[in-house]
Amino acid sequence: LSSEEFRRLGHRMVDWIADYWSRLESFPVRAAVAPGEVMAKLPAHPPEDGLGGDEGWEAVFRDLEEVVLPGITHWQSPSFFAYFPANASGPAVLGELLSAGLGVQGMLWSTSPAATEMETRVLDWLAELTGLPASFRSDSGTGGGVIQGTASEATLVAMVAARERVRRALGRETELVAYTSTQAHSSVLKAAMLSGVVRGVSDDVHLRQLGTDGTYALRPEVLEQAIREDLAAGRQPFFVCASLGTTSSGAMDPVRAISEVLERTGFTASGGWLHVDAAWAGSALVCPEHRAMLEGLEAVDSFAFNPHKWLLTNFDCNAFYTRERKALLDALSVMPEYLRNAATASGAVIDYRDWQVPLGRRFRALKLWFVLRHYGAKGLRAYIREHVRQAELFASWVEADERFELSTPRSLALVCFRLRPAPGEAPAATDARNRQLLDRLNAGGKAFLTHTVLPGVDGAPARYVLRMAIGSPRTEERHVRAVWEQLAALAKEA
Ligand code: PLP
Repeated sequence: LSSEEFRRLGHRMVDWIADYWSRLESFPVRAAVAPGEVMAKLPAHPPEDGLGGDEGWEAVFRDLEEVVLPGITHWQSPSFFAYFPANASGPAVLGELLSAGLGVQGMLWSTSPAATEMETRVLDWLAELTGLPASFRSDSGTGGGVIQGTASEATLVAMVAARERVRRALGRETELVAYTSTQAHSSVLKAAMLSGVVRGVSDDVHLRQLGTDGTYALRPEVLEQAIREDLAAGRQPFFVCASLGTTSSGAMDPVRAISEVLERTGFTASGGWLHVDAAWAGSALVCPEHRAMLEGLEAVDSFAFNPHKWLLTNFDCNAFYTRERKALLDALSVMPEYLRNAATASGAVIDYRDWQVPLGRRFRALKLWFVLRHYGAKGLRAYIREHVRQAELFASWVEADERFELSTPRSLALVCFRLRPAPGEAPAATDARNRQLLDRLNAGGKAFLTHTVLPGVDGAPARYVLRMAIGSPRTEERHVRAVWEQLAALAKEA
């Protein structure tokens, strides 16, 4: 493309995106294609001739409408309430575009100093905005933040750092054990598989997924007992992943009580690492009223959340903080000759390649920088508060309708609910009615929710529940009301 063609096509593409955003309500929220349908619309072989200039690109814009749009689920739809949100916003998209256009690699400070220093500064801003302890900021001298791709990578990096730190402290190889709750995200298991701590998905000796309490939070006394059992059996506890805002129901593990257990059992003294995964809930920390979950965070080794979920920043963007950046370097730093440079040798700079799995990294901070500047702290707080308000409203409607019940207390902007069991109804039948309700709602195309299964508490059977996860930038009260009205109408037939 010539510069002029790029300019014209770029303007047109931005127009297309802006138009797409304004058309969002006209699409069925969930993709309605059969497997293979999208592939069937694409030629089997790559094109021999290129598109040429603007005219050839007409075909691309046609394909966006005819091939791409029918084949996507509209995550930016105001009626997308499934999984957790995956926010996009104008400032973030512009930041991503700029990062692609600059095309720099920021693996070392010296390969693009602005990419590193802006990331350090923006993550310090974000630490301040979310009320994190000062030990996580770069000016602590020992801690700091980095942008990882995903929460999964953050957990993996933390676990690998933990493995190295504990091995160094012990001075020998030993059987390592990690702990998390049954409600933690599956990425903890994947991190344990990747870091060689477990050999397979059912290796519950080396990753212990511990049962939770009535709120689906990790029970400190169960953790303590597990650690003591492992120590007695000659195994070495080395890593705990606590969750703030579990994927199923938004449960909050008690960080302070967990850290006290770790202190008491000698876990901390032997170099063990406490990581906190706040992938979704972390964004709510921009509001001081949601900071109770931070209690005890000073004792945590690393903390991560995803602005790409609920803080208006396009995927991917995980903000990862540690209070001991040296531990990352010990675990992840390798120095081939071709990367040696004076700045690194001086020890005065951060090379973010040593804080992550890949070597290369784009100019990652730009989109977050744009988001923070565009919305400001006030804008971000108002954004989160509006979603939480909408969720409170939705939860109040569920509670006021005798056909429904809340399955857990609302967590921030996540509401887990279901149709109540009819008197004498078997649990499987209640589950089936709820599944049918969800299927019918989603088939209508006007909204999209997903489900989870919550374990039974105190001997009760597990429950199939619906999840209403509010957090799309365009969601207004009217969209939340509309989905409730649909649910209430469908419940008449359920
Ligand atoms: N942790 C929690 C609590 C999550 O809810 C999720 C995803 O929803 C993840 C981790 C994984 O996130 P990512 O896709 O950034 O790896």
